[in-house]
Amino acid sequence: MSIRFDASDALASWGRVVKATHLVARPRFPDELPSLLAGFSAAEPGLAVGLRRSYGDSNLNPAGRVIDMTALDRLIAFDRKTGVMRAEAGLSLSQALQVLVPQGWFLPTTPGTRFVTLGGAVANDVHGKNHHAMGTFGASVTRLKLHRTDGSTHELAQGDPLFHATVGGLGLTGVIEWVEFRTVRISSASLEAQDTPFENVSEFFDMSAETKETHEHTMAWVDCSTGGSSLGRGILSCANWSPHGDLMPHQEEPKKKMPMDAPSFALNALTVRAFNSIRHGLKTMRNGPYHTHYEPFFYPLDAIAHWNRLYGARGFYQYQCALPSETARDATIELLKTIVSSGQGSPLAVIKNFGANPPVGLLSFPREGTTLAIDFRNQDEDTLNLMADLDQIVASAAGRLNPAKDGRIPADLFQSVYPKWQEFCAHVDPGLSSAFWRRVSA
Ligand SMILES: Cc1cc2nc3c(=O)[nH]c(=O)nc-3n(C[C@H](O)[C@H](O)[C@H](O)COP(=O)(O)OP(=O)(O)OC[C@H]3O[C@@H](n4cnc5c(N)ncnc54)[C@H](O)[C@@H]3O)c2cc1C
Repeated sequence: MSIRFDASDALASWGRVVKATHLVARPRFPDELPSLLAGFSAAEPGLAVGLRRSYGDSNLNPAGRVIDMTALDRLIAFDRKTGVMRAEAGLSLSQALQVLVPQGWFLPTTPGTRFVTLGGAVANDVHGKNHHAMGTFGASVTRLKLHRTDGSTHELAQGDPLFHATVGGLGLTGVIEWVEFRTVRISSASLEAQDTPFENVSEFFDMSAETKETHEHTMAWVDCSTGGSSLGRGILSCANWSPHGDLMPHQEEPKKKMPMDAPSFALNALTVRAFNSIRHGLKTMRNGPYHTHYEPFFYPLDAIAHWNRLYGARGFYQYQCALPSETARDATIELLKTIVSSGQGSPLAVIKNFGANPPVGLLSFPREGTTLAIDFRNQDEDTLNLMADLDQIVASAAGRLNPAKDGRIPADLFQSVYPKWQEFCAHVDPGLSSAFWRRVSA
């Protein structure tokens, strides 16, 4: 029987602001892809999706068709000597780690959740806490196989223009069937980590300039509820791989789960409590270096399944900008002042530095400098107006916004902060589209 698209209940991305019905097909084998793609056209475009951990609308194609790639999750090859892995694009980073870690290998870089597919990691050219050391995920991709809606298939490598459009290409250049990538050696599944408080955001900039020389992994939590001399106080976490310890991978399933949407009357109390518990956890670690498994360091939010329900049924936005080194300090102060005075930010934001590694994809988000990411509970116009104010600060600092997190950026802003978008357009498969792309390419 040939594979079909079936009507879904509403699909949502991680932020859950937009929920829309789609026609969904879930292929089990790669040879089912060509017939699914043959039905896509410019008039009725489709889109491949992974675990839907993008926050906004780059993985949605409302009222259209999507190919859910998560059942294409086979490991194709792993070379234990070189650490090169080839796997189907629906394999999650979490599943890949179950194979890699016991053999003394790890992902070259990882985002803050392991529930991301290889296809999604390439299409958003994701970054981790070690961008200054390793660059983005795309930098470690050696080959990938792409299907286009005209029936052609392409095996692509670094140097091929379609490769550099596909890495960070938001799923718009074709459907990735498999990804081959380099992994890195580890001696144990543990890190030697350290958490150091800073009194305000200026101190973060001073401290992080030093830790990027001494630590592979660095990021900071920033308190968005206080202003004045404590504006942007927080905790800087740094780590290097430990030579001591075993090679035990993480437990696959999260230990706790958020059973339902938080009711609106409980929202503030719940989010503050949840984030305070992270803050408290961090405070207890303050005294000197500590030894930790990679799981709580890289993936603290994965400990609670469906944590996105904390923001209630109306969902939330994540705002993530990247600011060049020259403007980062002043612009971050300006952004935090605006967020604190709005009272709308969730108590904690994440701030980290990007290194000088050249971008791999035409639309790759990271640029040398600093990135700030913060969640905003969806309060309709109030939230949209606040983010529009933040856009002004980011634009005048020559910064940019992350498409993987975005659900509302206007076309003119996207086009001005991604100057290679027209070069990218030449590689777009006309049979593929997303809600994000229709908005920003208008
Ligand atoms: C808690 C949390 C922390 C995060 N931390 C980070 C972080 O530190 N750094 C970072 O960079 N990101 C981070 N993210 C974002 C996340 O890593 C990215 O959005 C990632 O791309 C999601 O992968 P996915 O499998 O869920 O893909 P989806 O969200 O389903 O899709 C993402 C994009 O990939 C495309 N796509 C998916 N599969 C294919 C395929 N096989 N072929 C072609 N296109 C495809 C889709 O069309 C879409 O454009 C975080 C997200 C969460 C929820």
